[in-house]
Amino acid sequence: MKHIPRKRFGQNFLTDQGIIESIVDAINPKPGQPLVEIGPGLMALTQPLVDRTGEVTVIELDRDLAVRLRTKPQLRVIESDVLKVNFANVAQELAVPKLRVVGNLPYNISTPILFHLLGFVDVVQDQHFMLQKEVIDRMVADAGNSDYGRLSVMLQWRYAMENVLFVPPESFDPPPRVNSAVVRMVPREQPAQLNPKLLEELVQVAFSQRRKILRNTLGKWLEEKGFSGTFDVQRRAEEVPVAEYEALAASLS
Ligand code: SAM
Repeated sequence: MKHIPRKRFGQNFLTDQGIIESIVDAINPKPGQPLVEIGPGLMALTQPLVDRTGEVTVIELDRDLAVRLRTKPQLRVIESDVLKVNFANVAQELAVPKLRVVGNLPYNISTPILFHLLGFVDVVQDQHFMLQKEVIDRMVADAGNSDYGRLSVMLQWRYAMENVLFVPPESFDPPPRVNSAVVRMVPREQPAQLNPKLLEELVQVAFSQRRKILRNTLGKWLEEKGFSGTFDVQRRAEEVPVAEYEALAASLS
């Protein structure tokens, strides 16, 4: 039976075979690797992934799609909201130290998914995600760029990231209203040691008024925290490189 795409689940199914191949090539799966796919949908990516690895663990929220997926012996199906999935448990069940996580993500919850996975970075080998291109631009932006913000700092602290493929709306059914792209995220081996909650708070305060000089926002906050080091607050949040935010959070942690 034909599946009617559900908007509330962010269902835009990939149909362009050339693009599908390019994404799978970018992932470069090898036999036996522990792949976990978020939102397999109608298996556009899943099937070529299975062909290359032999088995894939899939996380799907749509009950009707999960029913279809369960008929495939090469799939381990987790029928759940990905935001509730404990990836450390998944790694443990698969008896592997690290997972390769992939997916054409539901765009309505892509940022929450990225933050959820940040909590499981220790059990992740790498992540390949299709996202709104505009979100990837923000993820990979450097200081000084107008896309640079909270997402850039929080993710660049923990991952090396690159935009590996542009994907136009015509590659999907139904086509989304935005351009898409694929990002590769590889956890950094030696990230700055800091309290993530503190970095999050600091970055939120700093970017709360991104066009203003930091003195009245971050400057005040640092005073409240009893910060005694040096930090130039005569700048705007978007001018401060990731490494300086990290150093600041590390010194307060
Ligand atoms: N992978 C398929 C493809 O590329 O054609 C489908 C991608 S579609 C953009 C997103 C998929 O994520 C859908 O299958 C949707 O049902 C599923 N999904 C939506 N919200 C989800 C959630 N919270 N947890 C797990 N899967 C979800």
